[in-house]
Amino acid sequence: MTWRNWSGLATADPAKVLAPATPEQVAEAVRDAARSGLRVRMHGTGHSFTDVAVTDGVHLQPHRLSGVVAVDRRAMTVTALAGTTLHELNARLEALGLALHNMGDVDPQTLAGAVSTGTHGTGGVTASLSGQLEALQLVTADGELRTVDRDHDPELFHAARVGLGAVGVITALTFRVEPAFHLHAVEQPMAWEELLERHSTLVEGHHHVDAYWFPHTDRCLVKTNDRTLEPPAPLSRRRAWVEDELLSNTAFGAVDRFTTRFPRTVPTVNRLTARGWGAREYVDLSHRVFVASRRVVFREMEYSLPREQGMAVLREARRLIERQGWKVAWPVEIRATPPDEAWLSSTYGRDSVYLAFHVGQGVDHRPYFTGVERLLREHDGRPHWGKLHTRTAADLAPAYPRWADFAAVRDRADPERLFANDYVERVLG
Ligand SMILES: Cc1cc2nc3c(=O)[nH]c(=O)nc-3n(C[C@H](O)[C@H](O)[C@H](O)COP(=O)(O)OP(=O)(O)OC[C@H]3O[C@@H](n4cnc5c(N)ncnc54)[C@H](O)[C@@H]3O)c2cc1C
Repeated sequence: MTWRNWSGLATADPAKVLAPATPEQVAEAVRDAARSGLRVRMHGTGHSFTDVAVTDGVHLQPHRLSGVVAVDRRAMTVTALAGTTLHELNARLEALGLALHNMGDVDPQTLAGAVSTGTHGTGGVTASLSGQLEALQLVTADGELRTVDRDHDPELFHAARVGLGAVGVITALTFRVEPAFHLHAVEQPMAWEELLERHSTLVEGHHHVDAYWFPHTDRCLVKTNDRTLEPPAPLSRRRAWVEDELLSNTAFGAVDRFTTRFPRTVPTVNRLTARGWGAREYVDLSHRVFVASRRVVFREMEYSLPREQGMAVLREARRLIERQGWKVAWPVEIRATPPDEAWLSSTYGRDSVYLAFHVGQGVDHRPYFTGVERLLREHDGRPHWGKLHTRTAADLAPAYPRWADFAAVRDRADPERLFANDYVERVLG
């Protein structure tokens, strides 16, 4: 049966589909694939927009390889199998009185899938999930199960943490965790000029800052999340349902269908929608604050930029949108992250601003995304591996200081390119 990703942009018709339940079964599947001359790859929940998770060989399903397998309260680490979803991990951590340090804005992804493409949140000491890893267990192309960390084969560890599935099949991941904590969330509308002027002060003054700008308007929404010892004071269930489900999903879905059909209405509709952005404030457990519900399907390109260039590039992107006359109905998201140490992380070695560009699922994203991508490239931008982009290995290599080291580890872990697919060949060579 054909496999499809969340956005519907990537499909796979693999020669064989297997659902291993243990690391040993993964190792056996890898050895079998090598013997039969088939390529092999595990997918996650298909939340990558690119065809990064696709294979024509053996597709390994993640759902049986799931669950928390070890909790070490002295070391403050938790180990889970690769197919565990972030949602499942958060629920288990909550029951244990523990939490991840930081995460992105949704939780259906598998741990291995999210880590492998460099999935990140905003702010904090580490924003990416790969940055919170202490160890990885994976199967390399020789069919061997290996556990790697900073002391045991650190090169393989740094490569596989954001490895695009190209150096092995991850079977288990050990995350650094901390005692459960509350976040005080404040959401407030802000004018475009004020956001650009205050962005670095906001980032310095808050634990997590996430901002959205609605194209064709001067309106932005800024969300700050700060650690607090206050008890939980969540939004009422009714308000959360009206604002986060009804308005952000059901009504926004209808607006998206309308503007897709009548693109000339986008500027007027955006002005009306952005006026509806109001202020609100609440306190809750960290993962409940980080995670939002995203039911309207979209397409996305996201790039990291050196922090100091972020706002200037955003200003140029706005000028470009206005000059080109693109009708952009979805907000641009702005996040800021500290440097990462995983070699292929898009924030490797630098403080970054992430700019994310979206369109609805019925819109041809190419003119807008490729136009903005040219600008992002000129400013030393690096693409999110799970989101749409047109880069190739030749032009990506100079953007990553540890590119050659990654290539050397890949040659050692997978000399025959058992784990390759078309996407990986395009971006890694
Ligand atoms: C609605 C939505 C919201 C999102 N929000 C964010 C966000 O806030 N921040 C952000 O950074 N990204 C975000 N993303 C992107 C998403 O987190 C990444 O694309 C992520 O990789 C998806 O995880 P997945 O489980 O769906 O993996 P898939 O997309 O299925 O696979 C991703 C990659 O991981 C590989 N892989 C999966 N399992 C294994 C394994 N066991 N061993 C080795 N390789 C493996 C796959 O082969 C593939 O290369 C979002 C995407 C969507 C659709």
